[in-house]
Amino acid sequence: MFGKGLLKGLGVTGRVIFRKKVTEKYPDVQPQLAERWRGGFQLDVSQCIACGLCERNCPNGAIKMSTSKDENNKKQLASYELNFSYCLLCGLCVEGCPKHCLRFTQEFENAVYHKDQVILDLFNNQNLSAPMSTYGLPGKKEVESEREEK
Ligand code: SF4
Ligand code: SF4
Repeated sequence: MFGKGLLKGLGVTGRVIFRKKVTEKYPDVQPQLAERWRGGFQLDVSQCIACGLCERNCPNGAIKMSTSKDENNKKQLASYELNFSYCLLCGLCVEGCPKHCLRFTQEFENAVYHKDQVILDLFNNQNLSAPMSTYGLPGKKEVESEREEK
């Protein structure tokens, strides 16, 4: 029938026009991100056992870490760099970390001025104050209480 498509379209418009508006007023108002948002990284160096699983799991070779031995001949982390420009945010590194010490954060404003700044030095800047994402973790609360216990 002629005009059937038009009526259907107007029907959709009529339904949507009275719905609650969802426009975000960013940057004046910060958006509400999902708890599992993957935007940046943090590394709790004190919990890291320098096993290297995260580095091996990364399909893009974005993680470069080095280790050293402490006075008890125990392996410890010596450096940890994550090249964010190679990162797919796939989560294989975070999911594979046996200590849950490598985590995604809920950061999202990732633009930088210089290409050197895309390399995250997580050994010297652990970024622990950034809001933690729950992606790949047993549960944000559990991890936070684990952290407090230690
Ligand atoms: S999220 Fe994926 S691509 Fe990014 S560092 Fe981890 S394993 Fe590599
Ligand atoms: S997988 Fe976790 S514990 Fe192992 S080296 Fe990476 S961050 Fe450290």
